[in-house]
Amino acid sequence: MNLKKITKKDIGNLLNQWSKDYTIFVPSNEGDTAEFRVLSSEFRGGGEASILKTPNSVPNLDWYRNTVKPLKASFFPPVEEMFRFQKGKEGHSIELPSQEHQQLIFGIRPCDGRSLRLLDNIFTDTYQDPYYLPRRDSAVLVGLGCLKPYDTCFCTSLGISPGESEDVDLMLTDTGDEFLIEEISDKGKRLMELTAGLEDATEDDTASAREAKGMAQSKVTREIDTQHLSHRLLSCFEDEEYWEKVAAKCIGCGICTFLCPTCHCFDISDEMVKKQGARFRCWDSCAFPLYTKMPMENPREEKWQRVRQKVCHKFEFHPMSFDVIACTGCGRCIRLCPVNWDICQTLAQLPG
Ligand code: SF4
Ligand code: SF4
Repeated sequence: MNLKKITKKDIGNLLNQWSKDYTIFVPSNEGDTAEFRVLSSEFRGGGEASILKTPNSVPNLDWYRNTVKPLKASFFPPVEEMFRFQKGKEGHSIELPSQEHQQLIFGIRPCDGRSLRLLDNIFTDTYQDPYYLPRRDSAVLVGLGCLKPYDTCFCTSLGISPGESEDVDLMLTDTGDEFLIEEISDKGKRLMELTAGLEDATEDDTASAREAKGMAQSKVTREIDTQHLSHRLLSCFEDEEYWEKVAAKCIGCGICTFLCPTCHCFDISDEMVKKQGARFRCWDSCAFPLYTKMPMENPREEKWQRVRQKVCHKFEFHPMSFDVIACTGCGRCIRLCPVNWDICQTLAQLPG
């Protein structure tokens, strides 16, 4: 594997170079949270200096742990126009959205890198999603080791290491004043070949990176027991009393599903004025009773049924279809839940 390095003060130049071919997204400070935003033009012109000064829309690597909105939003946006339509004498005409720029997303945490691999299962299973897949195919993912995991993270229980990733194209590790850069995919290799100004990494650099990754791994202290999880969930599926207890404090706000990097429920609606309109796809949530409401019945009328669905989908149904748990242990659903509902606690208290 080709290993390179770059000093932190040169990261700006690296991003400027890449911005000639890609629209660059970086973790930017929004109040005291981080969100992926398009790299600002001031930063492009400003060279290396602004990286640690933290103006808006520059990578703010000092405090950044993970974004609130998950990476899925860059490939499967919260609201997206699928096409516009117009009714004419000859019937309807359709106008498809214009081609988007290629995205290079910088600073992806390993758990979020994995979430895209899990979403690929969904968007390529019974159909090839024409909106998600072109974005996914053209994007370059640049990972950044997560050296200060939150106490709500449990990625290691799901086979993910906070310092490493097989799910991105390039992986960076903070080694102090520098980043070690590893090529992970062919796409990453091509990008490295076209990038000027990188130095070869030394033995000392790889040793520092190894140490940083080991430290990160040891900081993830939360765990879930994934042994026989599908079976344990199956055996208590009909236990209404248990699920009512589990769901008792949930207020059904849907935050945990909107912000989960692997949840993918959506709704489709048409907005029309006179003879023209547009069809939209919007995130939806199994936490809402309307999501499953049908003319004659609602199979998930009760809150406990919806909470059970959320848990079982990730840990029982997705593994049945794709042989992998649909959770990355990112901990967003724990950190961001307004009533501190905790998925780890639910799994730990499963009967049997
Ligand atoms: S974020 Fe918490 S309260 Fe809201 S739906 Fe999820 S578990 Fe329930
Ligand atoms: S269920 Fe929670 S911990 Fe698992 S991927 Fe979704 S938000 Fe992250």
